[in-house]
Amino acid sequence: MEKMVIIGGGIGGAIAHDLALRGFSVVLLEKGELCCGSTGRHHGLLHSGARYALHDVATAAECMTENRILRAIAPQAVEQNDGLFVAVDDADMNHYGQLIRNCSAAGIPSRELSAVDARRMEPELSPTIKAAVQVPDATMDAWRLAMHFFASAKANGADIRPFSEVVGLLVNHGAVTGVKVRDHHRHATYIEEADMVINATGPWAGKIAALLDIHLPMKPSPGVMVSMQPRLTGMVINRLHPAGKGDIVVPQRNQSILGTSAWIANDPDEVTLPADHVRQMIDLCSRMLPKLAHLPVVAAWSASRPLLVGDAEADPTRISRASQVIDHGLSDGVEGMLSVVGGKATTMRAMAEKVVDRVCAKTGRAIPCTTKHTVLTHYRRFFRR
Ligand SMILES: Cc1cc2nc3c(=O)[nH]c(=O)nc-3n(C[C@H](O)[C@H](O)[C@H](O)COP(=O)(O)OP(=O)(O)OC[C@H]3O[C@@H](n4cnc5c(N)ncnc54)[C@H](O)[C@@H]3O)c2cc1C
Repeated sequence: MEKMVIIGGGIGGAIAHDLALRGFSVVLLEKGELCCGSTGRHHGLLHSGARYALHDVATAAECMTENRILRAIAPQAVEQNDGLFVAVDDADMNHYGQLIRNCSAAGIPSRELSAVDARRMEPELSPTIKAAVQVPDATMDAWRLAMHFFASAKANGADIRPFSEVVGLLVNHGAVTGVKVRDHHRHATYIEEADMVINATGPWAGKIAALLDIHLPMKPSPGVMVSMQPRLTGMVINRLHPAGKGDIVVPQRNQSILGTSAWIANDPDEVTLPADHVRQMIDLCSRMLPKLAHLPVVAAWSASRPLLVGDAEADPTRISRASQVIDHGLSDGVEGMLSVVGGKATTMRAMAEKVVDRVCAKTGRAIPCTTKHTVLTHYRRFFRR
């Protein structure tokens, strides 16, 4: 069976799992620790899709489908706690009817709640809220979910190599035939041959494409998250407005994770943590949960979204969260390499399915995807010999 080399140990784990289930030989190379990129550092919201319903119904519907699948195949990584969209003022109320209609169009179950009922469910909500909508958001353990995929891939024969950085691509007669790898454990460089290479490096995807002199219009779009103690709510709390800043509070264990902001960076290796964004997250989120203004900050960090942007795109909160698989044979005349960009952690299984369907089409194999129904191996198994 053909050998596939995946670059990137975030969403790449889901691709490795799908490839291994379909019988391919798999090597995955990650330059740092697994999940050290955005995948291990995001907000931890298993989206119902309602966050996107006001401006991107297709992405909202995909999130809901994947939300249901991940609850079933990775139950240990998901807290099934639901979410509220909270109208803080009259401007938010202007979106209330549209949110309900668009959730329905996207297949997202929603329940209308009066301010009194919402506060009965979540007493820390501001006493001045106008109304709320309950949706099937959930809290996911970002790291565990991804590690379940790695454990499953490994159990089916995938060779997963952290601290292995791709520093070059081998090209023969116009096709990628392998990668040059720097092993940061052994301080050695070696060649790994491949029938096909999959660039799953998220915010770094443009850097890998540049090794072939291919321009991928990737822009890392970082955002800041702030962790405060204690956990104030049982459910995920979202502001009921079109996606913006400081509008999500995810309860993770005994913490409240506030987020997020969005800007465009030039280099994923030079992403900062602007102090004013930390303050802004606290100010904006405390409009929904006033106690946040007085809690201690436990930690603050930033992570980058791997977004594909048109040059004219100005507002990173509005860039599509849809994923794309780019076949460089079709787009750039270089066979043997696919890049996967965009998407959400919530949709990583679906992204992997798209990638591996393309691999099957290119290698002339009609092997169906089974990841929708395959319960994932527990992450702890990854560390056992
Ligand atoms: C602020 C913020 C909040 C978010 N919140 C959520 C959320 O609540 N829910 C949700 O579903 N999604 C969320 N996301 C989106 C989610 O984090 C990303 O869509 C997802 O993690 C991207 O995964 P990835 O594998 O594409 O990228 P990454 O996880 O960044 O993985 C890419 C990997 O490639 C590796 N790599 C790069 N170059 C090389 C090389 N040369 N050789 C080998 N390896 C290399 C990197 O080290 C990295 O580990 C959020 C994103 C941000 C920025």
